[in-house]
Amino acid sequence: MSALVLHKPLLCRTHLHHKWAPDRTADGVRFTPCAHCGKDHTDVDKGQLRR
Ligand SMILES: [Zn+2]
Repeated sequence: MSALVLHKPLLCRTHLHHKWAPDRTADGVRFTPCAHCGKDHTDVDKGQLRR
């Protein structure tokens, strides 16, 4: 239970827009979470572009 989740921006909640913040793990694996809600951009890519 995190208060941050309750403050998720409207655009995130409606999946209209996320603030992608490219980063990489200590292992060098690139990932792009949303700076606001933490959703992983790669999840979105796979779901929308790989079909
Ligand atoms: Zn977001």
